[in-house]
This record gives sequence, C-alpha cells and structure tokens, in this order.
Amino acid sequence: MAIESLDSYKKYVKERLDSFRTIFAKASIGEYSEDVAIPEDNEEFAELATGIQVMIEVIRERIGELENEIADRKIIEERIRHQALHDPLTGLPNRKLLEERLAEVFQNAFRDDQKMAVVYFDLDRFKQINDVYGHQVGDMLLKEFAGRVDEVLPPGSLFARLGGDEFLVVLHKVKSQTDVSNILKRVVTALESPMSIESKTLFLSTSMGVAMFPRDGRELSTLVANSDVALLQAKHAGRNHFRFYRAMMNREASSRMQVVQELRHAVASEQMEIYYQPVVDFSTNRIMNAEALLRWRHPEQGLIEAHDFIPLAYDHGIMRMLGESTLRGVLQSQRTWQRQGVSRIRVAVNLSTREFTDRTFMEKLRSMLDEFEISPTLLEFEIVESLAMENIDLAKDRFKAFHKLGITIAIDDFGMGYSSLGYLKDLSVDKLKIDQSFVRRSLKSKEDRAIIQTIVALGQNLNLKVVGEGVETKEQLNLLRELGCSGVQGFRVARPMSGDMLARWVASSEPLV
Ligand code: C2E
Ligand code: CA
Ligand code: CA
Repeated sequence: MAIESLDSYKKYVKERLDSFRTIFAKASIGEYSEDVAIPEDNEEFAELATGIQVMIEVIRERIGELENEIADRKIIEERIRHQALHDPLTGLPNRKLLEERLAEVFQNAFRDDQKMAVVYFDLDRFKQINDVYGHQVGDMLLKEFAGRVDEVLPPGSLFARLGGDEFLVVLHKVKSQTDVSNILKRVVTALESPMSIESKTLFLSTSMGVAMFPRDGRELSTLVANSDVALLQAKHAGRNHFRFYRAMMNREASSRMQVVQELRHAVASEQMEIYYQPVVDFSTNRIMNAEALLRWRHPEQGLIEAHDFIPLAYDHGIMRMLGESTLRGVLQSQRTWQRQGVSRIRVAVNLSTREFTDRTFMEKLRSMLDEFEISPTLLEFEIVESLAMENIDLAKDRFKAFHKLGITIAIDDFGMGYSSLGYLKDLSVDKLKIDQSFVRRSLKSKEDRAIIQTIVALGQNLNLKVVGEGVETKEQLNLLRELGCSGVQGFRVARPMSGDMLARWVASSEPLV
C-alpha cells in the first residue's frame, strides 16, 4: 500500500493489528474459523497472517496432544494410587487407605454421636493351610474369604486387608452390640460351607475381636489395639468365635452388678463349660493329665475365659457354687470318656479358697465320686501356693485326706512369693507347677532360668513332678526339657479344648511334643 501520510499508515496498522487480535483471541479459546478476515491487500501482511495461522494450527495440535497426555497420566496416576491403596490379591483397601478413610468415619461418628464397631479378623490355622497346600491355594482361599465376608457385611462397611491373614472391618452407625453380634454371626455362617479350591475341599474359619466406639476407646489406635486384645481372647477361647473387648473387670459398678446377675443365671442355666488343657510328659511324650478350665458361653459375648469372670465370682459369693458345678462337670466328662472307651485321663481341678476352706467339702466330694462311680485316682487338685501357705494346718489335713482317697495334689503358680520352702516337706504334695511368668521370661532372663532350675532341683530332691506352664514357643519348650522339667503345659502344646476334642487329641498316636 502506498503511504499517504503517517496518520493513515498508523490507522492502517492499528486496523490490521485489531484484526490479528481478534484472530488470536478466537484461536486461543479454540474458536478460530476460516471466516475471520485475513487482509489480502498487502502481500507482506498476508504472508505473515498465513504464517501465524499455520503457527496457531501447530500450537492447537500440540495443545490437543498435551491434553491427551495429561488425561493418560491422570489415568495412570489414578491406577498407581489405587494400587498403592488396595491389596492386589483381594482388591480390598489396604492399611493405608483404611487409615485415611477411618479418619473420616471417625470424625462423622464423633460429630453425630454414633456407635461404631472395629472388628479385627484373623483366619484360623491359615499358616498350616499355606504350609500344606502352598501359597497359590492360600491366595485363592483369601480371595474366596474376602468375597464371602464382603457379601454379608452391610453396605458401606469398611473392609480392609491389613496383610497376611489379618483383616479389619469397621461397621458404622450400629445401634447396639446385638446389632454387631448379628452381623458377625452372619460372617461365621457364610464361612461354614466348604471352599473347593483346585479340586480340594477346604474349610476356613476366622476368629474376630470387636472393640466398640466410643465405649472401648475414643481413638483409632486404642480401638484397633482393643479389638486385637479381644481377638486374642477369641483365639484362646478356641477359634471360630468373636469376642467383644470388655474385660468383665473393667465394667462400671452398675454394669458389673448386671454381670454378677448374669453370672448367677449362667451357672444355673448351664452356660458354663469345662475346657481341658493337656499336660504332656517329657519322658513318654504322652499326656500326663489335663487341667480343667472353666469357660462361660455367654449368649452374646461368646466364650469367656476364667480369668475374666472368676475374680467376680469370688467377690460376689458365687465361687463355691461354681466350684461344685465344675467338679460335677469333670466327673461327668470322666464318665462319658469311660463309656466311649477313651483311655483314662487324670484331670486336675483348680480348688479355690472357698472350696478349700469349706468344712463340708470332703463329704460333698465323696458323695459325688460315688454318684458318678469315678475312681478318685482320676482326680488331681491344684492349689495355689499362697493358699496352701496361709492355711498350713488345714492344708496338712486336707492333703492327707485327698491322698488317702488317691487324689494327687499340685501346687499351682509355684515360685511366686514364698521364700520359705520348708512347708513343702510337711505337706503331701505330688507336683509343682512353675508360675507362667518365669516361663515367659525364661529365654531372656538368667535369673528366671535360675529360679526354674532351683524349682526343678527342689522337685528332684523331694521326689515331686515339676511342670512348666504357659509354654508358648518351641524354644521355651526345649529349654524346659533341658532344664529337667517333667512335663509342659501351654499353647505350644495345646490350647484348652472341649472334652470331645480332648478325647480325640489323646487318641492320636503321634508323639505329643
Ligand atoms: P491357672 O490355674 O494358672 O490356669 C492356667 C491359665 O493359663 C488358663 O487361663 C489357661 O487358659 C492359660 N494358659 C494356658 N496355656 C497358656 C499359654 O501358653 N499362654 C498363656 N498366656 N496362657 C496360657 P484361664 O482358663 O483364663 O484361667 C485363669 C485362672 O482362673 C486359672 O489360672 C485358675 O486360677 C482360674 N480357674 C480356671 N478354671 C477354674 C476353676 O474351675 N476353678 C477355680 N477355682 N479356678 C479356675
Ligand atoms: Ca491351675
Ligand atoms: Ca497356674
């Protein structure tokens, strides 16, 4: 174009620039279209315009590519996040995600004053299944387990795999403990039918421990820890059970009175069961005897162990009644075993101070033995060291009378507090049971090993059997054998079990330790 004046040139440039601005503006929001006028009256501008147009096209293309890349990366990131937060085998949330979600659930529960249950799961004997059938079968079982449980949990429950064979479920907005019981009963039922995996038929069960929010803890870590405690109790109670965390002892006074009522009712309504824990003799590798341990099958709380309710029974005058029904139960078991042709098992019964000091005890004992027609040689009484010591004259008489009948005597929890051992030679005792605390510390502490050695030496001198109690590991078991104990009792050998189970257990021809 001819330049007529500076002003007209300025005006021309301004117009062109405006037109370019429009093109840029439209292009930048993706609306560029052919109908935007490109000045053609000037070759230079036209060339520039075409150049810019090409550039815009290139840029748009690049933007499109980048957008796709970002979308892809988001998908990948999402996948990575999912993998980092889920268990690859079962697809359930893992511990990390659980913690994230729980923080939220907790806040809501706090805010809305809701009840919640944290349930800790641990598969029974899963390690054995893995060892016997291999990891592949183990993995398939875990998957099947997760699927079955998931199906019976209420929608919205948080179900996570913590690792190995441990799972955790959070049930929110539950109304009561009964609510939770009902859900967990469904879990137990869901696992009842066998799982067929690689043409094998396998049974899987789980033990569960429950802690309730807010009753058993107001913090996540406390609740998880308490559900774990309850889980251990469930395991001790013989697996395939659930247990609520609530040490009977920790209840408030008002609710404790309720437990006492329940306990009284329980004794009368046959909710009490006797479990038997074998003691194995090192010299024969066979059973030496079994110890009777009381269990309370609570209609809601499952199986409760003795240490959770016996102290309460003592404090509220129920112990004597309980002791009597235990003795009856043991004699009843003996009779059943005899009828079934099970080999004779001597059963040790724990005697409390209530029975020990009861003047009519000998009489009751004799009449019960007659009633059930059981030889007294199939009985042993366990008396804790302190009880014998504090009633030394009575102990002398009683022990003599027991012996006369053929009942043997063991001093329980031996080594705990009495330095004077002279009393032992005055009493007719047959056995010393080393207190569990020495066994527990035996591998770590030289002093505790020395105490065990001393008890063993004492036993040898006085011709008494010495049994190590609470043996949980192979190392403890070997140590007690090396130190010269006559036998062992503990989870490592066998957990307390029902009378029927014990009959099957002793029938096994395998060496027992
Ligand atoms: P105890 O006589 O010392 O009984 C042994 C306790 O240790 C039992 O607890 C048993 O389950 C547990 N135990 C056995 N092996 C192991 C192990 O390897 N590790 C650990 N950590 N524990 C193990 P349980 O049944 O709860 O009984 C607690 C106490 O209650 C008994 O202590 C006994 O004093 C008393 N008790 C139990 N049943 C009766 C009974 O029928 N009458 C009386 N009077 N007392 C009983
Ligand atoms: Ca005992
Ligand atoms: Ca004991």
